[in-house]
Amino acid sequence: MKVVLFDIDGTLVKAGGAGARALNHAVHALTGHPEACKSCQLQGGTDKANFENAFVAGAGRKPTRKEMSALTEKYVARLPLEVTASVKAGNYSKVKGVEKFLARLSGKKEVLVGLGTGNLREGAFIKLEPSGLMKHFAFGGYGCDSHQRSEMLKKAVGRAAKIAKTAIKPVEVFVIGDTHLDVQAAREAGYHSAAVLDGFGDERLIMRSNPELVTKDFRALKPWLIWLGLEKDPRGVRRGTYICPDSPIEHAQHGRTGLDQKDLDEGIKRLRALKKRTAGR
Ligand SMILES: [Mg+2]
Repeated sequence: MKVVLFDIDGTLVKAGGAGARALNHAVHALTGHPEACKSCQLQGGTDKANFENAFVAGAGRKPTRKEMSALTEKYVARLPLEVTASVKAGNYSKVKGVEKFLARLSGKKEVLVGLGTGNLREGAFIKLEPSGLMKHFAFGGYGCDSHQRSEMLKKAVGRAAKIAKTAIKPVEVFVIGDTHLDVQAAREAGYHSAAVLDGFGDERLIMRSNPELVTKDFRALKPWLIWLGLEKDPRGVRRGTYICPDSPIEHAQHGRTGLDQKDLDEGIKRLRALKKRTAGR
């Protein structure tokens, strides 16, 4: 069994800042601060952690448990309106190629597709609603499960195991996100990791976090299917800076070289020519 976990914001959809606006609205109602999210880094964080940080930014102190649940309630109540506003303004979009990718994965018996997101469960569904992608996800790990992304991912895998009625080994879990925090969380949990660059992550931080696969989006499916071990590539062809050998484990070992096979071949040719020219000198 293979379990593939998708982050939502920047990986499946871009909701045009709906989450931040809903959170600003909720913090404003409780603390009077109109734009608390401006001073918070929300991307890649779990909602629980983001809510707390935004409240601190608004009130100058940590929220009580009661305030946290009031904040959550107000956020969830406001979110549909903000998502709808993004859709109307043309600021809501799906990450390119993701629909086809999900359809492809959903058709495979040996694959379970789930969510691995920092969003609260309700927030996740509200954000995905206009995309029509929700039908692909039977389970997930959510921001309400834990402050920590890696724990949230483990929760998702636990739910997958219940559905599959079998234990799932970490090596069978593939995490896809758009920030270095997604990659780090996957690694902490012992899972495979891949990232898209077309989301909200910082490209340099993503590269430094060293995911096994990095692509712009999901338009080219072959590297993704090979990474998941669903397609074979006996040649271990290099695609851009990524080497795609046959098994996902090898992927982690090979990593990126920054060189294409063509670059390597041409380099060797140049060296040989130089050697020939300088022979005997
Ligand atoms: Mg994200």
